[in-house]
Amino acid sequence: MATPITIGISACLVGQQVRFDSSAKTSHFCVKELGKHVQYRAFCPEVAIGLPVPRPTIRQIKKDDMIIVARPDGSGDVTEALAEYGKRVAKVAENFSGYIFCAKSPSCGMERVKVYSEDGKGSTSDGVGAFAKEVMKANPLLPCEENGRLNDALIRENFVARVFAYRDWQQLNKRGLSKHALTQFHARYKYTLMSHDLIAYKQLGRLLADADIELEQMASQYIAGLMSALKKIATRKKHANTLQHLQGYFSKELTSEQKQELAQQIDDYRNGVLPLIAPLTLIKHYQREFPKDYLAEQFYLDPYPADLKLRYGY
Ligand code: SF4
Repeated sequence: MATPITIGISACLVGQQVRFDSSAKTSHFCVKELGKHVQYRAFCPEVAIGLPVPRPTIRQIKKDDMIIVARPDGSGDVTEALAEYGKRVAKVAENFSGYIFCAKSPSCGMERVKVYSEDGKGSTSDGVGAFAKEVMKANPLLPCEENGRLNDALIRENFVARVFAYRDWQQLNKRGLSKHALTQFHARYKYTLMSHDLIAYKQLGRLLADADIELEQMASQYIAGLMSALKKIATRKKHANTLQHLQGYFSKELTSEQKQELAQQIDDYRNGVLPLIAPLTLIKHYQREFPKDYLAEQFYLDPYPADLKLRYGY
């Protein structure tokens, strides 16, 4: 049986009542939908460093040139403890395929965390949770997102696709890397990359063709390039362009009516009339009817379990 995909997550998002007021912040999507396909490792850094439940609120405070995490009056500074715990979890997270942080938390927030002035009268929204910062810093390739941002259909799809792609990469590493395996991997991501960043696809192809680069260095440059390209949101225009390329594989088999129907669906998708799932379903139908080996391997056609319905919303 395949090892399950492991994702780190803020404990309150999976229903643990660990927040300052003893509540949870359960994410329906994380628990009921994504949770069917992954296993979570839940962490509450504030509880882990010994803070009680319930507990007085803590916040990020700009003090001189530093940002500390403490009670609103500046007492009970836990900045160091949270960072130390973050470093410990960062080690464990090396084996994860993603991480979902709880938004806005002074400990877990991934970005835009409120930072208060010392007198508490003003604030900016440019902080990063003291715990999250360490996990992300030590694992720059790890796909990370926040619960709030996951409500956006495009961001949700993008995150899940990155998780499954990263996992694919981790599996490849377990099986053993070779230049040939890397080339095959790149071929599998051709249309995924085309829908996110065509230039990156070409650059990564050139990287793999460079005979002077050692395998290890090539692999680390490749995965950094791939993960960075996948972070770019795939727009309707780029998807439509990708779909047209896929349509080309069936040019010999399809009747002119079938070609017209598919072209119309791609156009309707491009213009926002249909969701991505519509033309994709038709292409997958033709792939079943007239199988092409190259397409059978494409991550683009089946990036993650279909029941997540991530291609229905845009
Ligand atoms: S946001 Fe992080 S620190 Fe706060 S309750 Fe949730 S898991 Fe704990």
